[in-house]
Amino acid sequence: MDHFHEIDLADCPCCGGVGSIQEEGGWCLYVQCMDCGAYTAELAYQNEAERQDAARKAALSWNLRKVIRPGPGE
Ligand SMILES: [Zn+2]
Repeated sequence: MDHFHEIDLADCPCCGGVGSIQEEGGWCLYVQCMDCGAYTAELAYQNEAERQDAARKAALSWNLRKVIRPGPGE
């Protein structure tokens, strides 16, 4: 069930750590760094096809270094 096809994740643009696809409540997903917590914008989906598409888009944002860096005051 938690399998994504052909998703290639680059290293974290902030720290070089490992990125991982996170799903929230079964309706949206994003990529987050397991080390520093940097993450991409959430992408909502409504079915399996959209879920795969959202995973690809989240991975693309991640690989283009479009991440939000967690930090104090944010
Ligand atoms: Zn990181």
